[in-house]
Formats: sequence, C-alpha cells, structure tokens
Amino acid sequence: MNIFETRESNVRSYCRSFPTLFHRAKGAFIYSESGEAYIDFLAGAGALNYGHNNDYIKQKVIAYLDADAIAHGLDFHTSAKEQFISKFTETVLTPKNLDYRLQFCGPTGTNAVEAALKLARKVKQRPGIFSFMGGYHGMTLGSLSISGNRDIKAGAFGTSSNVTFMPYPFGFMESFDTIEFIESVLNDVNSGIERPAAIIFETVQAEGGVIVAPIEWMQRLRKLCDRHDILLICDDIQVGCGRTGPFFSFERANIIPDMVVLSKSIGGYGFPMSLLLLKPELDIWEPGEHNGTFRGNQLAFVGGTAALEYREIVNLEKEVKLKESFLHNFLIDKIVSISEKIKIRGTGLIWGIDISNFGDANLAKKITSRCFELGLIIEKAGRNNTVIKILPPLTIEMPILEQGCSIIKQAFDDCVV
Ligand code: PMP
Repeated sequence: MNIFETRESNVRSYCRSFPTLFHRAKGAFIYSESGEAYIDFLAGAGALNYGHNNDYIKQKVIAYLDADAIAHGLDFHTSAKEQFISKFTETVLTPKNLDYRLQFCGPTGTNAVEAALKLARKVKQRPGIFSFMGGYHGMTLGSLSISGNRDIKAGAFGTSSNVTFMPYPFGFMESFDTIEFIESVLNDVNSGIERPAAIIFETVQAEGGVIVAPIEWMQRLRKLCDRHDILLICDDIQVGCGRTGPFFSFERANIIPDMVVLSKSIGGYGFPMSLLLLKPELDIWEPGEHNGTFRGNQLAFVGGTAALEYREIVNLEKEVKLKESFLHNFLIDKIVSISEKIKIRGTGLIWGIDISNFGDANLAKKITSRCFELGLIIEKAGRNNTVIKILPPLTIEMPILEQGCSIIKQAFDDCVV
C-alpha cells in the first residue's frame, strides 16, 4: 500500500483524482515526490493565476518574512494591508473609475460570499436572494444555499429558503428570454416570489461547466436590478483577477455591479484572502459588526500587492489574449474536429470541453485520468461532471501550453471511440 492509499483511508482530498504525492512546484509545473512532472491545467482551481512559486512574488514574500514584519494582524491596519489597498486602488480601481470600498473577509471565497449576502439583506431590509441555476458559490450554508447543484446540498438539510433560482441563459434556456422571465416574476403579484435584496451571478459559470454569459444579457441584468432596486453581486472568485483578460470579468460587459466578491488569486501566491468590494453607499456596517480572526492574511497582502505589480510588469492582460487565441484555435482544430458531439465554450484562459452529448457518464473521468497518466492535471466540471475544464496559470509559457494541449488531444484520441 503506498502513502496515497494509506492516506486515502482517512483524508478526503483530491488524491482521489490525482493519485500521487505532490512535493514541489514551479511555474505551470507540479512535481511528485518521485520526480514526475505534471503540467498544471487546474492552477489551484484558479488560485494560481501567477503560477506556482512565481519568482517576483516569492522575493517580496521572503523579504517581508526576513524583516520580521507582522505575520498575523487580526483586522488591524498594518503596513502590508496599507500597501495592498493602495496598490489595488491605484492599479485596479482608479484607472477604471470604480468606486468601491474594500471589506476583507475570512480566508476563503465562501467567506466573502456570505458577507455579501448578509450585507445585502441588511441594506435592503429584505431576506430574499435570486441566484442562477448551475451557479456555484461555496460550501458554507449561505453560499451553498445559493449554489445550483442539488447533490452538494444533499446532506445539509436546512439550506436557506430565501433563495430563488432563476434560469441562466444556457441549454434549452438559451433561446428563452431569461431576463424577461425575471422581470415578469417581479412584476406579477401572483408569482408568489418576493422581490429579493440581491441577485448574485457569475459572468462565467466555472464549476457549472464553463458557461459564458452573453454581454447583452449581463447589461440587461444590470438594468433590471436598477429598475427594481435590487443589488447586483458579481461572484468573480474564479474568473476575476485577470482570468478572462481584464482584471474583473464583468468589464467585458461594461457594467458595474453593486458588490463584487474576490478570492482565489487575489492573494497572489496561493495565499488565502477573500475580499468584498462594495459601493460606498452600502458601507453601513458598524465596526465589529462583521468580523473574524483571519480577516486579511498578511502574507496574502504581500503576495497580492506583488501580484498586482507583476501584472503590470509583464502586461498579463495582453498575454492572456494571445494565449486565449491559441487555445481557442487548438480546440476548434484539434478537439471539435474529433466529433460533432463535442462542444467548446470559454473566454480568456478558462475553457470547457463539453462531452455530455456522448451520453457516457464516465467519459470525462476517463479522459482526465488519461491526461494524468500522460502528465497533465486537469479537472471536470459542469452537470454530471461532463465538461473538461482548462484552467492553466495565466503565466504559462507558450510551449508548455502547447504541450498540455497535445496531451488533451492524445487523451481524446485514446478515450473517444
Ligand atoms: N464562487 C466561485 C465562483 C467559485 O468558483 C468558488 C470556488 N470554486 C467559490 C465561490 C468558493 O470559494 P472557496 O472554495 O474558496 O470557498
């Protein structure tokens, strides 16, 4: 019995999908203890947009630690926090004329989602939330309640009853006017559905199977929220921080949500941070009204500040566009051409290969396992896990991106008959 099998008996973890003992990582590669190299097309589920052990960020973190700077600072004002706020404001908010206040939440994405839901209810003095079918927002009770997948809620009896799921423009709903539907639900006193405090959405449903919302749909959603005095919350946890090109994914639609939740790559180096951005008029919490011990990890502030510097130095937005174009062409030329049953979706450096039309519940698993054997880490997403999600670090070098793609092609050739 190897260590993986021993551990598997008492630890629930990704080792079920990737049965090896990982030890070291650099850039877009992660290495097992015995030295096998794997290209990482999962990138910490979006937490490693700048790659593993990014040298620029690493030096800043080492210097910070060497100086015996504050390692844990509760929610005090610290110089690391101050620098992060300044850099974020200067490079992300001000150039785009975005006027948001920053509320640091607990260490992980779901903490920011919870904060957004809680604040929306207090501001609007209404309990309801509209969320979208197929969406994913986290595993704690509030964020779980607004996530679409029934399976992940199955054992958690008592998720919130104040949530109403609305159709996302996907599948048979693509030809249905989902915004018009929400409008009529709100206008019809007989619909039985109360006006919510907020509508939360993802511009790309990532865990939901890489479903990209149309620009016009997002613009109409924004207007609908304005008409009905509903707060619009964008969950940019997975596809923010440059994943789609610009820093925020909603920039694609030229809209401004009332609140934005960020996490994953905001801490730069894979360090935990979650951040709620809120319009100034929503800033009604008294000090201490929403607190927690691990709000604002100091190393994440340092990593996050360095990452924002690094973004500018290497012009990451431009890089993403170049790599997007390569990836898109690869998928059309080499993957879609295998079978007309295969559909692809994506933007920036998040792409999904939808193989649900094969009607084989195990096919995605077979393909990702084959990829792993060939040296590539890649995950499944979407309804019944029938979408293969490509999520490399944004910093991945072109030859490594190409190498990872050729492994996908090989795995498709080996598994799709
Ligand atoms: N929202 C979205 C869109 C996510 O992708 C995730 C994580 N996959 C979360 C929220 C929850 O984040 P965390 O796992 O850090 O709690």
